[in-house]
Amino acid sequence: MHTDHADERFVCAECRGTIPINPQIRRALVQHGCALCGASIPTDTFC
Ligand SMILES: [Zn+2]
Repeated sequence: MHTDHADERFVCAECRGTIPINPQIRRALVQHGCALCGASIPTDTFC
């Protein structure tokens, strides 16, 4: 099985926290920053 997007994760460079992402969460992270520490996230983090 190929579930390429199932384990897509964001690792925050500031707090080292890991957040499982989907397109909605990805958009929210870019707009609002890290959900854990609030660090801003460059829009090119997710390619
Ligand atoms: Zn963070």
